[in-house]
Amino acid sequence: MLFKDIYGHKNTIKNFIDAEKKNRISHAQLFLGQEGIGKISLAIAFAQYLNCENPKENDSCGECKSCKKYAKIAHPDLHFVYPVVKTASISKPVSLDYINKWREFILKSKFHSYNEWLEFIGTDNLQGSIYAQESQEIIRIINLKTFEAKYKVLIIFMPEKMNISAANKLLKAIEEPPPNSLFILISEDESSILTTIRSRTQLIKLNSLSNNEIISALKEEFPETDKSIMEDATKIAAGNYIYARQILSQDNNSEENSFFKNFDYFTELMRSSFSGNFSEMVDLVEKLSKLGREKQKSFIEYSLRYLRENFIFHSVPQNSNLNYLTKKEADFSKNFSKFIHSKNISQLFEEFNKAYFDITRNASPKILFLDLALKISRYLKIKES
Ligand SMILES: [Zn+2]
Repeated sequence: MLFKDIYGHKNTIKNFIDAEKKNRISHAQLFLGQEGIGKISLAIAFAQYLNCENPKENDSCGECKSCKKYAKIAHPDLHFVYPVVKTASISKPVSLDYINKWREFILKSKFHSYNEWLEFIGTDNLQGSIYAQESQEIIRIINLKTFEAKYKVLIIFMPEKMNISAANKLLKAIEEPPPNSLFILISEDESSILTTIRSRTQLIKLNSLSNNEIISALKEEFPETDKSIMEDATKIAAGNYIYARQILSQDNNSEENSFFKNFDYFTELMRSSFSGNFSEMVDLVEKLSKLGREKQKSFIEYSLRYLRENFIFHSVPQNSNLNYLTKKEADFSKNFSKFIHSKNISQLFEEFNKAYFDITRNASPKILFLDLALKISRYLKIKES
């Protein structure tokens, strides 16, 4: 991965290059930022640059022996630790057990998420973890001689999923680092990392991607898709490329299957509930019941997000960012947002969350959506003051 192929993070990259030139690379760094901004790709590009045998002014060469191995995620001095899961055949899993899958996962896109990783290894409903036995692996990696590189690099994805004994081994390694080693921790939640680890790492806060950066990345992955659909997906995604990609993946350009159909369902639900039109509610419930579980979940997630935006739009307009609403949404919100306020927002959230939970539990969609519509009908009538 070359710096030039990274979306966003221009200032951070400039700082990396400056630090390298001044020989001031901190040996333990914590990359912190939300999902879907390309943190792993950035870490790999950084490590590749440090180890490039023939670096250019502002980037790796992409051609030397080291760069070629980095391009395949197969450099002997590049190591990874990441959450894994137990299976029938692996009762005490460590990262190395999944290394081939991991390489494939890293190479298939520039953007990676924890959930997509778990899906990729075929474990939809399980929780991943960096288990205690990984601590032996961490010690082994740290004690390895550097084969051929300037820096031995250990990239740890989601240290917040680390078992405490593995975390303590890591801490010890960071405190007494072997020469020429570089630890890059990649996290989305600083607060759940051991304070002792946090205090010994250099914090690199990474920004979310701008809408333009997301659109450029989408164009690379979805060259056939309409520009206006990409723009709408980008607004909804709020700086998270992974979310924008999920939206487009649901959109196969047929109206019925589109993610954006969620807007129509949402407005229909709010209108029929508000007017208390029972037969319209029942019609909509029929439609929603036929969607299938994944689409139903997507609809609820969409509704929660759009309710939140409406709440902000109405209650704290100075914090509302129209960049996060599509044109249709912004138009609808002009009138609708006044019905979403501090007196009913928590009840509404609670009902939608409950519906989500019931869907995952295979409850009858007809019953749960009708119940939801009736509850909304009541909550929309609550006056703000
Ligand atoms: Zn090179």
